[in-house]
Amino acid sequence: MKRFFAILIIFFQFSSLRIDAQQGRPPRIAIAGLGIESSTFSPATTDEEAFHADHGLKIFSNYPFLSADSPLRRRAIWIPAITGHALPGGAVTREAYESLVNKTLDSLRKNGPYDGLLFDIHGAMSVVGLDDPEGDFITRIRAVVGPLTLISTTMDLHGNVSLRLAEQTDLITCYRMAPHEDAMETKERAAKNLLSRIESGKGKPAYKVWIPVPILLPGEKTSTRIEPAKSLYQAVGPAASQPGIIDAAIWIGYAWADEPRNRAVVMVTGDDRKKVVETAEILARRFWESRNGFVFVAPTRHWEECLDSALKSRQHPFFISDMGDNPTAGGAGDVSWTLTRILERKEFQWPQGPSLIYASIPGPGLIEQAIKVGKGGMVDGWAGATVDSRFAPPVHIRGKVESIVYGDKDAEVETSILVGRVHVIVTKKRKPYHHEMDFTKLGLHPRQTDIVVVKIGYLEPELYAMQKGWLMALTPGGVDQDIEHLPYHRIERPMFPLDHFDRDPDLSARMVSSSDSLITK
Ligand SMILES: [Zn+2]
Repeated sequence: MKRFFAILIIFFQFSSLRIDAQQGRPPRIAIAGLGIESSTFSPATTDEEAFHADHGLKIFSNYPFLSADSPLRRRAIWIPAITGHALPGGAVTREAYESLVNKTLDSLRKNGPYDGLLFDIHGAMSVVGLDDPEGDFITRIRAVVGPLTLISTTMDLHGNVSLRLAEQTDLITCYRMAPHEDAMETKERAAKNLLSRIESGKGKPAYKVWIPVPILLPGEKTSTRIEPAKSLYQAVGPAASQPGIIDAAIWIGYAWADEPRNRAVVMVTGDDRKKVVETAEILARRFWESRNGFVFVAPTRHWEECLDSALKSRQHPFFISDMGDNPTAGGAGDVSWTLTRILERKEFQWPQGPSLIYASIPGPGLIEQAIKVGKGGMVDGWAGATVDSRFAPPVHIRGKVESIVYGDKDAEVETSILVGRVHVIVTKKRKPYHHEMDFTKLGLHPRQTDIVVVKIGYLEPELYAMQKGWLMALTPGGVDQDIEHLPYHRIERPMFPLDHFDRDPDLSARMVSSSDSLITK
């Protein structure tokens, strides 16, 4: 029966498809990929479940530009294999990686052949005992789909591009905005470029240029809201739309993994050799020349200073980013160091004291208690420091349950517990708080709260728009922003800002082998 429906669906896709002029049939395009950024400086590990992998037709719902009635959907037979996206975290276990990769390869084997493949990855996955997982993954995909399939890779600008990944892919691009407001636009561009190369019969780009730039910066210093990343990234769009160029991209790279591939990269693809080389070299040079201008997007202080400033401020809500354990960068999300310090402050115990929201800390035991006593009941227990207890033990929380919310994809269950004047958001599993709705659904009102502390780096747009003061706190955790003190052993040296450079690095264009030349070698 399942098979019958599959045939029926393919029939419907066929009936409304544009026929490819070059090949006399609509192109067949697979979709696959895994997305995570994982810190090797965190004791946490990530398992298969965390990827919430989608299979087959369900994958379409992740791509609005491929909705049933979209023009792009009708231009090809799309054959989704497996895609998975996990919250940033610790390194992925080897078992989880192998299982997900093998499932993807099985699906690709079963449903081939393909004219194209949309490879949707983040690019900063770390796997226990395996270097360059995305390079490994695409090489294994290439072995299944063969040398003729055009692969278009879409990435996060915090991903890393190894030479192997650059070689095995044909087209490649990444976001041009951080925060990533253009995430879907980027994936759509990767899909459109892939289709147009197939439909026009132009196929693989004649030239791919890859330039590693010896810069390694935390994302919090490279927001495209401010200079120099703003101008640098604004130059990418015009560079990519020149005649003879297919796409251009700049990767900041990922600072919390200790591998040779972790650094910034510029890539340009196209058919006009001179233009491709020139464009990549201009972008790489521009990046290098602006290196000293990268600073944290908001003033950065040690914790006590941040809290003192927030308490003194007349403007509210005053936001503090609890950066060191930011789960959206790869922190375990359960470091209890900051919350412990907040609950120790006597100001928050006074009935007329300042109000504070803390988002968030995992505490499955407290969640169980909250469910048992219900809204308005009292709980007394411990939270945090199950995964990452290097900086503080579990934090003691005794307070009144204000709300219980079920069903969040990441947190599963969330509760707000009032301790003095502090609303502590306790979750069953870790979850980042990015939107106003994340708070209001718990009955919390960040706009009417004096201080909001979020385990986050730079503020996501909705929170940024409501803040009346903002400091980023250099707190401890798996994504400590003080990267100059991280124990790197394996990244390429010298690396800015860790090392001194006697002379400028070689930023000349490296021509990358075409993917088909690799297979036939
Ligand atoms: Zn990112």
